[in-house]
Amino acid sequence: MKFDFELENAIEQIKSRNPKKILIQLPEGMKTYTAEIVSQLAINTKTDILVSGNSNWGGCDLALDEAKNLKVDLLVHFGHAQFIKNVDFPVLYIEVKDNTDLNSLLMQSLDKLSSFHNIGLVSSIQHLHKLNEVKEFYEKNNKKITIPEKKGFAAYNGHVVGCEYNSLKSMVDKVDAFIVIGNQFHSLGAALSVNKPIILLDTYNMEIVNMEELKNKIIKQRAAAIDKIKDSKNLGIIVGTKPGQKFGSFENIKKKLENLGKNVFILTIDEMTQDKLTNFYNIDGFIELACPRIAIEDYNKYNKPIITFKESLVVLNELKWEDLVNNGFL
Ligand code: SF4
Repeated sequence: MKFDFELENAIEQIKSRNPKKILIQLPEGMKTYTAEIVSQLAINTKTDILVSGNSNWGGCDLALDEAKNLKVDLLVHFGHAQFIKNVDFPVLYIEVKDNTDLNSLLMQSLDKLSSFHNIGLVSSIQHLHKLNEVKEFYEKNNKKITIPEKKGFAAYNGHVVGCEYNSLKSMVDKVDAFIVIGNQFHSLGAALSVNKPIILLDTYNMEIVNMEELKNKIIKQRAAAIDKIKDSKNLGIIVGTKPGQKFGSFENIKKKLENLGKNVFILTIDEMTQDKLTNFYNIDGFIELACPRIAIEDYNKYNKPIITFKESLVVLNELKWEDLVNNGFL
């Protein structure tokens, strides 16, 4: 199997909590393994198992309301490291390891890294168990590799989450470039956070990508979205209702936007979709305080401009566009 779901660990941990009924959450790309996971857990834990069919985008996205409504005894969240620290419900995070062999990618990457000597190394949670092995490989090839210390939402040294790049920022002056092991999502976040070359070891498409081109394209999109919000009269501030997706305070920016002559409406949404926003026909644009990657990643999915909390500070003249570009969008 591509993934190691740490089922022995999961079984032991579930049994130690003695639940009668559990709810399982799997990330989108891992739902395909539902049958294997559930049958193993059912045989070995003797619990009733329910599987959430709703989307699961990160460790922030705990199905707490679902678990409470279904009266389960435990929520088992696969695929992400612990993100929310204090939860008023029993939750078990089970990290998943990706077994992809990185050797060919590492060999391929040497060419793209030829002009860099001091390099920061990070990865998504699924590849974190290979970080020291990767470090050794590059050191044998005369690179100086540093794994940054964890910061903020990151659970481990060298761990990156899509909304947390402070570990990279903390060492940006000490390196020539960063290597990100994972996918485009994490490496684009890194490229939009630090002004250094980001080289992605893409374990899904098995290719090496310099993120510069995509970064520049996204920056142009962000500039256009911010300009459209500046010109909009009716604005919606979207407050996300997922438990770990609270970025910024709506009270504060609502007042300041009103002082600029805007009409501002506060909307609450759990999962953002174009269909939901279409119903707010007379609203010209949105500021979303849920996952900051929705505005950035899903730019083409929405008909109206959507910006993040941090980008709203540019609209409010509290942050210069140049500072956003130089110090990071995330
Ligand atoms: S807020 Fe967004 S980027 Fe951060 S962990 Fe959740 S889904 Fe990932």
